[in-house]
Amino acid sequence: MDFSLSDVQKAFRAMARDFMSDKKTQQWIAAAEHNKGFPYDFMEKAAEHGLLGMNVSEKYGGAGMSVLDAVTVIEEIAYWSVPFSLNILVQNSLAAFPIETFGTEEQKAKYLPKMVSGELLGCFANTEAGVGSDAKNIVTKAVRKDGKLLLIGFKRFITSASVANVAVVFARTSPRTAGNPGTTAFLIDIGENAPGFLLTKVEKKYGQSGSMLCEFILDDYVADEKNILGKLNQGWEVCDGTFRHSRNFIAAQGAGLARRALDEALKYVAERITFGKPLIENQALGFELAKMDIEIEAARLLTYKAAFEEDVKDKNFHLTSSKAKYATGEAVKKMALLYYQYCGGMSVSSDSLSSKLLLDALPIPIYEGPSEIQLQILWKHLQQVAKTLK
Ligand SMILES: Cc1cc2nc3c(=O)[nH]c(=O)nc-3n(C[C@H](O)[C@H](O)[C@H](O)COP(=O)(O)OP(=O)(O)OC[C@H]3O[C@@H](n4cnc5c(N)ncnc54)[C@H](O)[C@@H]3O)c2cc1C
Repeated sequence: MDFSLSDVQKAFRAMARDFMSDKKTQQWIAAAEHNKGFPYDFMEKAAEHGLLGMNVSEKYGGAGMSVLDAVTVIEEIAYWSVPFSLNILVQNSLAAFPIETFGTEEQKAKYLPKMVSGELLGCFANTEAGVGSDAKNIVTKAVRKDGKLLLIGFKRFITSASVANVAVVFARTSPRTAGNPGTTAFLIDIGENAPGFLLTKVEKKYGQSGSMLCEFILDDYVADEKNILGKLNQGWEVCDGTFRHSRNFIAAQGAGLARRALDEALKYVAERITFGKPLIENQALGFELAKMDIEIEAARLLTYKAAFEEDVKDKNFHLTSSKAKYATGEAVKKMALLYYQYCGGMSVSSDSLSSKLLLDALPIPIYEGPSEIQLQILWKHLQQVAKTLK
């Protein structure tokens, strides 16, 4: 078993580190923190670096990276900025992935090259006002009328919807039954000029400045069979298939930020003197940090393992992704909170790095299935395992 990254992976990672630590990128991160706007310049540059189509096949202009390659890049980007990594993640694992995996040749040729170049931005819309964790239960519907499918509903908490040109949207096309949630995935053009699409809100939020969290209405949005992504009434396959892939990218985001918070905490406690000695010389605090170091490394290794398993088409890779999402989500939450605590009163300042990292960390164990949903997935699996052990 070889735990080292390949030379190619090291090169991708170094490229991401150079790009993110570059003065210009740091300015964009600072500007987004201040003006809360979407970093178009950053995304343009990210496209030039091949970061908007990391796993997209070379046939469509993508970088054709393995999942593990892309996951290590997302981890590095998140080390520097979680919201910027989220913008890149959405384009890759939530939008381009389902299009390439479930789309028709026509859909792939139409959208993927332009998404890779950054000409088109994508988003993924399942969540609604009444439905988040119970993702099968959506009420947005597609109604047949005069040979068309009218999409009617309201989507909430959709990252990038205010800047996206194309959306993977889920709607109900038949009643939910025990065997089938009855939803369908649609690939639709959105934006100001799309009739039937209405952006209703961009959330004012704490943390993750530079990523856009949005609400929109579909008001008789006219779609047809060509807009269906995958098969009619088989939307759950697209939704769950995308989550299984993308969850590990969120795990990588958690691993990146957890490592950053640990590094920043180490820098601070090595310098800050209380009772005549640096904070790090207190064993209680040192043990906490040692435990976090173990937890973060374990979570990160789970993330790489899940990516590796997906690359080698292990049918149970998604279980490892759930473990990685849970482990990194919990680790980042704890580590960011410890960093905040160690910085003492300094943390309370709204422009402190410790408060910023904490606010960036807190949504990670929530989106793409909260920690409890990962436990639910693993619990159901263990129930099956238990039956085989009788
Ligand atoms: C920053 C951000 C970006 C997002 N981006 C997108 C996006 O691009 N596209 C999209 O479709 N959605 C997106 N979401 C939505 C996200 O996926 C949901 O917020 C998430 O699935 C949780 O749903 P909810 O907020 O409705 O919480 P709820 O489902 O109401 O759950 C609330 C809490 O209850 C707990 N809980 C829920 N179910 C159980 C259970 N069965 N057992 C025990 N505890 C439970 C969990 O702690 C959970 O956090 C985003 C959310 C955020 C915060």
